[in-house]
Amino acid sequence: MKFDLKTAVSTSVSGMAAYAPGEQPEGGSWTKLNTNELPYPPSPKVKAAILKELGKRGESLRLYPAPESPKLREAIAKFYGLKAPFAFAGNGSDDVLNIAVRAFSDSKRAISTIDPSYSLYPVLAKMQGARLKKIPFEANMKIPFKKIFESNSNIFFFTNPNAPTGLGFDLKTVEKIAKNFNGLVLVDEAYAPFSGFSAARLVKKYDNLIVAGTSSKAWGMAGMRVGWALANPKIVEILDRVRDSYNLDRLAQAAGIAALNDVEYHLSKVRLIVSEREKFQKFLSGIGWNFYPSSSNFIFFKPRRGTSEGAAEAEAFFEFLKKNKILLRYFPNEKSACDGVRMTVGTPADMARVRKAVREWIKL
Ligand SMILES: *Cc1c(COP(=O)(O)O)cnc(C)c1O
Repeated sequence: MKFDLKTAVSTSVSGMAAYAPGEQPEGGSWTKLNTNELPYPPSPKVKAAILKELGKRGESLRLYPAPESPKLREAIAKFYGLKAPFAFAGNGSDDVLNIAVRAFSDSKRAISTIDPSYSLYPVLAKMQGARLKKIPFEANMKIPFKKIFESNSNIFFFTNPNAPTGLGFDLKTVEKIAKNFNGLVLVDEAYAPFSGFSAARLVKKYDNLIVAGTSSKAWGMAGMRVGWALANPKIVEILDRVRDSYNLDRLAQAAGIAALNDVEYHLSKVRLIVSEREKFQKFLSGIGWNFYPSSSNFIFFKPRRGTSEGAAEAEAFFEFLKKNKILLRYFPNEKSACDGVRMTVGTPADMARVRKAVREWIKL
């Protein structure tokens, strides 16, 4: 047998590295603030719906789930005040992003994004053999509209609120991009529930707009893998061509429906996070640390000792907190983000622990 794994790998895959997710440490006692999960469980109705779907002996698992997740799509659409044909369901929104890249990019159809942004996009582009053009923010984190419009790409990924900065941009900004960009605009709204507004309903007005969302952050269901997209039904039809035929299992569909229908629970948890976020930002202002005003459930800030801030301080602070069993996210390899750390907003007790650690680190 003549077999060489090196040459067996496709050209696009041989030139790429896997996405590097935030650590998921085993065992308890960690204050885990590195991957922007909700510190609260999902609505109790989610667990009840999963058990009901499962059946006493798990008998429902014998049969394939509904391929198009039609009831979940209805729940998604209803949540945003849209009709079901505008909704698409994914196995997490990473699945939606992957499907969009496969459907709308190739070696001749480039992708563009703002830099910095979600680090999964370059991985997806590489896998597809598509060029990814990173367009840096202008000074003071202003949107580089002209560069976006002239980027000559087929699809523009707009993370709003942005990750890892947490900065939110209003609907006028989204509309301006949708109106002037000659291609598809995918607004990744993983954190939009914490900004208080969504571009979802604009999909009725703009045929080139896809708005992606997820239950992973603001619904406390990262472990369930339920994401979605809102778009013109003609776009949904194309996404449907590419998706795995059974991309959401039965339990995920049931969980997603229960979560989206319990609007009160969802909003109450979002309010708790927003209130802790504001409190922590006041704390940062009080000690003179720089941060981006966040519209998300995380804050990107720059650790400071005396007058110095930068990559060395960010790394030292990250390591100090890690020693204290508090896990943040640090981006040593990203030029535009290596001078700070990203902290998920947790419970009031989590935040008190971080404030205490900050005070100790300053005194070291
Ligand atoms: C977390 C995150 C996602 C992915 O969420 P899943 O639904 O868990 O796949 C997508 N985009 C951004 C910007 C995120 O931060």
